[in-house]
Amino acid sequence: MSAAPGVETGPAKRSELKVAVIGGGLGGLYAAKLLAQAGVAYQLFEAQARLGGRVLTEPLAGGAYDLGPTWFWPAHQARMRQLTGALGLASFAQPARGALIHELSATQRLRADGDDGSMDGSMRLAGGIGALVQALAQRLDAQRLHSGQALLRLELLPTGGLMLELGAADGGSSSWQPFSHAILTLPPRLLAATVDFSPALPAELLANWAAVPTWMAGQAKLLAVYERPFWQDEQLSGAARSRVGPLVEIHDATGPQGPPALFGFVGVDPRSRREHGEQALQQAALAQLVRLFGPLAGQPKALFFKDWATDRWLATERDETAPRQHPSYGSHRALPAVWAQRLLLAGSETAAVHGGYLEGALEASEAAVQRLLGAL
Ligand SMILES: Cc1cc2nc3c(=O)[nH]c(=O)nc-3n(C[C@H](O)[C@H](O)[C@H](O)COP(=O)(O)OP(=O)(O)OC[C@H]3O[C@@H](n4cnc5c(N)ncnc54)[C@H](O)[C@@H]3O)c2cc1C
Repeated sequence: MSAAPGVETGPAKRSELKVAVIGGGLGGLYAAKLLAQAGVAYQLFEAQARLGGRVLTEPLAGGAYDLGPTWFWPAHQARMRQLTGALGLASFAQPARGALIHELSATQRLRADGDDGSMDGSMRLAGGIGALVQALAQRLDAQRLHSGQALLRLELLPTGGLMLELGAADGGSSSWQPFSHAILTLPPRLLAATVDFSPALPAELLANWAAVPTWMAGQAKLLAVYERPFWQDEQLSGAARSRVGPLVEIHDATGPQGPPALFGFVGVDPRSRREHGEQALQQAALAQLVRLFGPLAGQPKALFFKDWATDRWLATERDETAPRQHPSYGSHRALPAVWAQRLLLAGSETAAVHGGYLEGALEASEAAVQRLLGAL
């Protein structure tokens, strides 16, 4: 069927595509990899100076410590299994040998021998999940990766193409650049709150996006690095569950290299975290680790703390209230037809099956690139 006069149907050939990938987290980098493999011209724009998004791995003394995602489950996450394998990344099982501690109250603790805390099948990457981001980025053309470049505004041209305003988010210099398509990998809620669309998107659609919780955006993690794994002296796994807090779930964060470590998810909500202040929270967390694992836990050689709720490139005010259970993702994609020909939503929160997880970021990018190429 031929197009109506004056209506541009878009590039007919792969060689005419010019795709902007927005976001340099796992989803954006994977989309870039798939586009490169398909011979499609792309440019990737990441708002922050660093790549990775929610993937954040801190190096210390030869070790690698994850302050964002830690685990993947290769038994039912085929993309993560295949990608990490293809990139030659070594993985290892989450250390969970020994007893788990249940902290029931300020004075009551229960030792559960032989309880692995349901960590069976949870795998980690040597070098942390950051090794995956690094390996992907290293294989992409560095000239196509632009850090410190946020998408500010997106305009749909009467001819059908896109103009993107990209630049520093705080009123620094910006530039308009033309693209045939854009793959947006930032979480839908953040997209609705921070990017302008012209013509404006229907209010109902923006409300729909804003209602999608960004997975783990309200979380905070504390990680303590030690001289030696003293918890093993008592045949403890380093894992604990607590009804007291501030850490509600604690795990051994030791990797194949570098000094041993423990990490915990902070169970205090973002507002209370702000009220108490970071230092008071860290002190309370260390006191808890001493309660659970003994006095050596109070003398870490390093302490890392990452409050994701204060990360402007992830969380919005609405993420202060965490969902009670894993949301059902992937059903909020529908864009008005004129935009749908040019814009593809990706990012983990748009994945139908593995939404919210690392695997979901891969799933969503794969689906977006397939839709793009399928439409040619
Ligand atoms: C504490 C924590 C623990 C987690 N644990 C696990 C786990 O163990 N296993 C698991 O599978 N998953 C886990 N997750 C979830 C996992 O991290 C995410 O599913 C995955 O990293 C999402 O990748 P993404 O690329 O879709 O999104 P993101 O990583 O959020 O990437 C989006 C990118 O877009 C950038 N950006 C934002 N706005 C703009 C803009 N306007 N212009 C340009 N760039 C922009 C951001 O800076 C970011 O880099 C965890 C997450 C957190 C926070």
